[in-house]
Amino acid sequence: MSTEIKHTDRAHALLSASSASRWLACTPSPRLEEQFEDEGSEYAAEGTLAHEIAELKLRKHYTEPMGPQKFAAQIRKFKKHELFQDEMLKHTDTYLEYIQGITHGFKTLPFVAIEKRLDFSAYVPEGFGTGDCIIIGESKLYVIDFKYGKGVPVSAEDNPQMKLYGLGAYLEYGFLYDIKEVQMVVVQPRLNDEPSEATLPLNELLAWGEEIKPVARKAFKGEGDYVPGEHCKFCKAKAQCRARADQYTALEDFKSMKPPLISDEEVGQILEKAQNLEAWVKALKDYALTESLKGKEIPGWKAVEGRGSRSYVDQDKAFDHLKEKGIDEAILFERVPLTVPKLEKELGKKEFTSLLKDHVKKSPGKPTLAPISDKRKAVTVSPEAGEDFK
Ligand code: SF4
Repeated sequence: MSTEIKHTDRAHALLSASSASRWLACTPSPRLEEQFEDEGSEYAAEGTLAHEIAELKLRKHYTEPMGPQKFAAQIRKFKKHELFQDEMLKHTDTYLEYIQGITHGFKTLPFVAIEKRLDFSAYVPEGFGTGDCIIIGESKLYVIDFKYGKGVPVSAEDNPQMKLYGLGAYLEYGFLYDIKEVQMVVVQPRLNDEPSEATLPLNELLAWGEEIKPVARKAFKGEGDYVPGEHCKFCKAKAQCRARADQYTALEDFKSMKPPLISDEEVGQILEKAQNLEAWVKALKDYALTESLKGKEIPGWKAVEGRGSRSYVDQDKAFDHLKEKGIDEAILFERVPLTVPKLEKELGKKEFTSLLKDHVKKSPGKPTLAPISDKRKAVTVSPEAGEDFK
């Protein structure tokens, strides 16, 4: 098995792969974002740590440059990190096992590259990113992305980030290997039991690359219209962006509508406009609080001290004291049964299924409203069944 290891720093291009769904939809956003400082988050730091553990495990498996002692010493180092969680070991194992499943399935030995800098600047000006794992074998190129976040589920289907990585990997290795199709995979073990996979014939991927070239050029120059949408969520301008504000303040227009009852069509339009309203208001509040704390005046608003909370100075000492004073230990602790998802997490999927498959039932979820683009199929209920559903 040929293997290449290259640890790259995770620097970001102006038109990064991870923000591609944003700049493809709202081309001037990357240049607008330039005036904002990069505020790293704890989630991002946690993700970086999990990636480093994942990288170490892949490196150990595919290059074997270290014995068990060296590996254990490295893991001990990670364990000392303030953001380390035990579950990082389990989730990085899931990632490793998935990759092993692919590489062991080949008749001939595949090529594997880990943490590979991928240059897709032939399609996107100055575009590059880091591919977590690239595998090439039997005319198939795999681009695998490990995501440690659990806030937003990420699908590999029609995912511009994964397609850009695919293009970058093809540009890097296409002259060495006869690649006919590209499989893009997102492994997000904290959120999805199964990785999300999508396969594209190479010619379709290359055609998509040609399609986005002019859009990328526009984005690089900061041209085009500001287009608000779901992609605003991670934009640095999300609180102050005028196009986003106009989108929601335009809800006022509906006031002038006649007759007194709005139509179903208007209900659909208002809901569409209001979809990200809550997130926008939160972004505005976060911005106004940060600025108020800096001493800036946001007319009509101020920062105040929130409600405090009480906690034990030393819980063990407090409880020992209570027991000495004759308080029964039973009232100090609650015994709560684990929910099905939590128990499955504790036992692992395999053991959970073998022990409990006859003891767990799945009830249908409560109907919920979703945009027409949602992948789930539409449901209806008859008036009689409606009562049961409630
Ligand atoms: S907030 Fe939304 S509309 Fe405004 S620049 Fe960012 S992505 Fe574009």
